[in-house]
Amino acid sequence: MLSQRENLLNTSRKLVELGLNRGTSGNASVRSDKGFFITPSGMEVDAMTPHDMVLMDMAGKHKAGCEPSSEWRFHRDIYQARPEVGAVIHVHSTFATSLACLRRDIPPFHYMIAVAGGSDIRCAPYALFGSQALSDAALQALQGRRACLLANHGMIALGATLKQALDIAHEVETLCEQYWRALQVGEPVLLTEAEMAEVFEQFKGYGAWAEPSQAASA
Ligand code: 13P
Ligand code: ZN
Repeated sequence: MLSQRENLLNTSRKLVELGLNRGTSGNASVRSDKGFFITPSGMEVDAMTPHDMVLMDMAGKHKAGCEPSSEWRFHRDIYQARPEVGAVIHVHSTFATSLACLRRDIPPFHYMIAVAGGSDIRCAPYALFGSQALSDAALQALQGRRACLLANHGMIALGATLKQALDIAHEVETLCEQYWRALQVGEPVLLTEAEMAEVFEQFKGYGAWAEPSQAASA
C-alpha cells in the first residue's frame, strides 16, 4: 500500500499532469493521525521526494527539514473545522483563477455545480497568500461546500480522500471553463433552486459524487 507521503506526492504530480498546477503554484495535504502531511513550500513537484512531505501537528509545528507550504494555515484550519475532510488541494488552474480575478461566485449554470456541495461556488474576498486573513476568508466561503475560489489567486477543493479532492478540483476547473466559454456568447440561463434541489436528490445514489449531495443538505 502507498504511504501517505507517496500518495500526496503522486497527487501533486497528477495536478501538474492535468494542467491544474505548474511550477511552484498550489499545494496539497492529507490528514494523518498525528495532524497532516503537506507539500513543501516553493518547490517544483519534479524536485520533490516523499521525504520532503512535511508532517505538521494541529498547532502548526513541524520537525526541522523542508518548510511546509506557505498556505499551511488554511489547510490546518480546514482540518480543524471540518472533521469530514481528509484532504485539501489548492490550485492556480487557469479558468478558476480567471473567474477568481473577476471576483465572481459561480452560479448554478450547470447541474454539476452540485459536486461542490451547494447551488453555487463562492469566491472568497482577496487576502495575501499565506496569511491568516486568507484562511479566515476561505473557511467562510467553504461553509457547506467542498470548493471555493480565492479572489485574484485560485481555488481550494476538499475531499474525504486525496482522490476525491483531486476529482472535485478537476471538475470545478472544468465548470469554470464551461462558464467562462458560455459567458463569451451571452448570459447563461441559470437553474432554479427547485431544479438544483432535484439534482441533490438524484446525486444521492450517483456513484462517486454521492457524498457531496449529503454535504449540501448539512
Ligand atoms: P507554496 O509553495 O508555499 O505552497 O505556495 C504556493 C501557493 O500557491 C501559495 O498560495
Ligand atoms: Zn496559491
